[in-house]
Amino acid sequence: MEQHHGLPASMGIAIGPAFIYTPEELLKSPQEPADAATELDRVERAIEEAQDQLTSIYEKSVAEVGEETAAIFLAHQEFLADPALLAEVKEQIEQHNSSAEAAVETAFEMYAKQLEALEDEYYRERALDLRDVSRRVRRILAGVQDQETLTNLASPVIIVARDLTPSDTAQMNKSMVLGFCTATGGLTSHTAIIARILGIPAVVGMGEGILELPSGALLIIDGHEGVVLADADEATTREYARRRDVQAEELAKEKKVAHKPAATSDGHHVEVVANIADATSAQVALDFGAEGVGLFRTEYLFLNRQSIPTEEEQYQAYRAVADVLGDRPLIIRTLDIGGDKQLPYLDIGHEMNPFLGWRAIRLCLDSPELFEPQLRAILRASVERNVQIMFPMVATLDELRRARQALERVKSELAGGGIPFDPQTEVGIMIEVPSAALMADVLAPEVDFFSIGTNDLIQYTMACDRVNDKVAYLYDPLHPAVLRLIKGVIDAAHREGKWVGMCGEMAGNLEAIPLLLGLGLDEFSMNAPAIPAAKALIGSLTLSQAQEIAETALTKRTSEEIRGYLRSLGLAQS
Ligand code: PEP
Ligand code: MG
Repeated sequence: MEQHHGLPASMGIAIGPAFIYTPEELLKSPQEPADAATELDRVERAIEEAQDQLTSIYEKSVAEVGEETAAIFLAHQEFLADPALLAEVKEQIEQHNSSAEAAVETAFEMYAKQLEALEDEYYRERALDLRDVSRRVRRILAGVQDQETLTNLASPVIIVARDLTPSDTAQMNKSMVLGFCTATGGLTSHTAIIARILGIPAVVGMGEGILELPSGALLIIDGHEGVVLADADEATTREYARRRDVQAEELAKEKKVAHKPAATSDGHHVEVVANIADATSAQVALDFGAEGVGLFRTEYLFLNRQSIPTEEEQYQAYRAVADVLGDRPLIIRTLDIGGDKQLPYLDIGHEMNPFLGWRAIRLCLDSPELFEPQLRAILRASVERNVQIMFPMVATLDELRRARQALERVKSELAGGGIPFDPQTEVGIMIEVPSAALMADVLAPEVDFFSIGTNDLIQYTMACDRVNDKVAYLYDPLHPAVLRLIKGVIDAAHREGKWVGMCGEMAGNLEAIPLLLGLGLDEFSMNAPAIPAAKALIGSLTLSQAQEIAETALTKRTSEEIRGYLRSLGLAQS
């Protein structure tokens, strides 16, 4: 039995076979070329197979997303029939003695570079498509079938990967995923967040050794302890299976009581709502007892596709979520792209520090063609629903004002065109940049609410990359510097009569909840599976107990002192 350790990213136990996902390595090291005739024959067959794959993907996509969006796969088929491109592949094999893999890579890359050099964005996008097709053909040459990719998982597996990108998780057949183990990544990496949203056990930051596991090895993931066991003996496996089943039963019980509104034992009400990514996760959230949605991350709609979703597509997606929620609150966050979330069709350019770069509201304010259709779609979805708009990464009053001006422009266009929307739609901002936290008193009069984004606020306050496990020791929600900023934000907003929520991971952290409650947080937005335990904890405290906890914690100098104090009250988690 092998034991591997990492960061406990998403609770729960999973048992199942390993699916080793290392897409980049599968395509490395092209084979030694055989004679030209053999290599040409290999290419020809791979292209035929790629054409067949694309036909089925096209048909599946027409059913799922409609003809217009699916048409991209027809364009991919055209590349595979392009005489000039095929001639180049042939030349690489015949004149340069290349293997089939190398010939495809070189020829497609040559064409991709030519397209990329063109001014027109349409052609630059086609360069990405060419590379996609090139990878498909090379995957076939390497003997990696599409059934082995994440889209077509046919039986339940535990995904083992270096890391998973947002496009990986977007295309994954999630119903077949029992758990995640990744070599890199911290507790707020994309993989960790998605795992928690979906309630999938996960351990991240495990180191490269995890990638050496043989495909199909029986794994046990303990997402609470951050441990992964490979090829455990029968007795151990039975014990973990028993614990997994007990946990599932406990969760089912907690879920039953989680449908009551959240309140302390002396009747102080707070809202417990969920972070979601689409209509499915909205439904999951309601099942776990969410009273609404405090963060709808809209960027997932923009991932894993070849072009910006149209206003109409966005409207349909937002309206679908709003319909799941009925009259419960739905806070839709405008696009937060950049940082660790990149779009293939949006050229952000190389950045030395992407988390400090052109992302979220900064990018949207500079790109009305991206921002305004989204604002229109959100406003249209607001009719007879409790939709609220939230801007991410606001750092200055000027940014807030510019975002609000864009919203006003869009509102008058809609009104001018007789298109219905709710003119009272509330507007809030995320507080996730220290400058905004420090200027909360200045920002509060110009918004309806704040939502504290601790995932980013902690990384910017402590100057530690949220996805770098080497500096994970600094990434501490209980650091007094973080708590002081949070207190300042809540007090400033309350002085202006505005409510404050939190949609960073800290809101669902059982160690932090008593403190946040005591600081006066009004809304806690978390991943759905965390809701039942959070509501139970809130219900076990009185407001004055929580206030005393917060007051005392704020007198401490380090997170260790704060944890020691919480431990003395039986409230620390470890
Ligand atoms: C945050 O920063 O806390 C947040 C909720 O936003 P994201 O994790 O999407 O950056
Ligand atoms: Mg953020």
